[in-house]
Amino acid sequence: MSELPDAGLEQDFAELQRAVELLEAERLRRLAEIDRRGLHERDGFLSAASWLASSHKVAWGNARADLRIARALRDMPRSLSALLEGEVSMSAVKVLAAARQTDPLTFDHSEPQLLEAARVHAIGDLQRVVGFWRQQVDHAHDLRGDDAARARRRLHASATYLGMVRVDGDLDPETGEALLTALGAVLDAETRSNIGEDGLTPAQRRADALGEICRLWLDRSDRPMVGGERPHVTLTVDAGMLAGREAGTAELDRTGPVPEELEKQHLCDASVMRVVLSGRSQPMDVGRRTPIVPPAMRRAVIVRDRRCRFPGCDRPHSWCDAHHIVHRADGGPTAIGNLLLLCRRHHRMVHAPGGFSLELLDSRPAFKRPDGSLLEDRVPP
Ligand SMILES: [Zn+2]
Ligand SMILES: [Zn+2]
Repeated sequence: MSELPDAGLEQDFAELQRAVELLEAERLRRLAEIDRRGLHERDGFLSAASWLASSHKVAWGNARADLRIARALRDMPRSLSALLEGEVSMSAVKVLAAARQTDPLTFDHSEPQLLEAARVHAIGDLQRVVGFWRQQVDHAHDLRGDDAARARRRLHASATYLGMVRVDGDLDPETGEALLTALGAVLDAETRSNIGEDGLTPAQRRADALGEICRLWLDRSDRPMVGGERPHVTLTVDAGMLAGREAGTAELDRTGPVPEELEKQHLCDASVMRVVLSGRSQPMDVGRRTPIVPPAMRRAVIVRDRRCRFPGCDRPHSWCDAHHIVHRADGGPTAIGNLLLLCRRHHRMVHAPGGFSLELLDSRPAFKRPDGSLLEDRVPP
């Protein structure tokens, strides 16, 4: 070989390269045919790839890649003939075969143009062309909102540290539209009820709005039964704590212990069910969840108050909790005279330490600012 002139060596190499690729193409055609006829099954192989790996001592990864490209070539007759004519290289065909997997139908349409790119471009440039083609295909999918895009929908929601719940997902267009519409409606109502000036970020507002949407669903009387009962937020509390005798713990079913400053608010809440424990984890009323405010009493409070009673707020009763003016822990009874409708936002504000307070003056509810001054009861428009 050392006596070959340079040009001859290059010529020689080109011919061998071409021959190897031709042989390779023919080898893959036969592998595809073996796969189609299922010849590998005769010896109990589960796939033509495992047959190839075992019978011809081919590395498993290579055997699998060979079968993939062999099958692709069977479905890409134009690329195969270009390969056999020596117009495109095997490497280029592999790039095209990978592209075809993205979307076979669209690929079959685009094959002539992509083949033309494979004829003129080096592999690196061909990969860029194919990447661009892929982007366009993805974009078309998104615009069509078709099944491939829809199949990507997912939602994860799970409790993490400190009882926070992480939500993450991609929604298909219809579900996403429903979510955005519902969130928008809740945020809108909030702006109208004039309590938007409290320094919350838009993201915090959306999180609260999502909670509101879930609560409204849980409050529906026709929600489906789960495990023999209607789903609701369940709080497990110590009996001593409920009676206000001692400090205790309150725990939500899925997210765990309730932070101390929220305990009172939860114990007020009409829509939350409770399971009472006496002392060391002994359920007093086993399996019996009782609403903290009985439904009949809640209805009576709704008839009387109709909406959130915080001065200037007009959110309807479906957004409200029945708040104990004198808290149960301070001996306040669950009685109509001691209950007041407050929307979730105002309920939270009234329970926040160092925030607004509420007491009975001449048996009428009186709201006070954090500095102790009386909040005028402005009648809503
Ligand atoms: Zn309350
Ligand atoms: Zn309110």
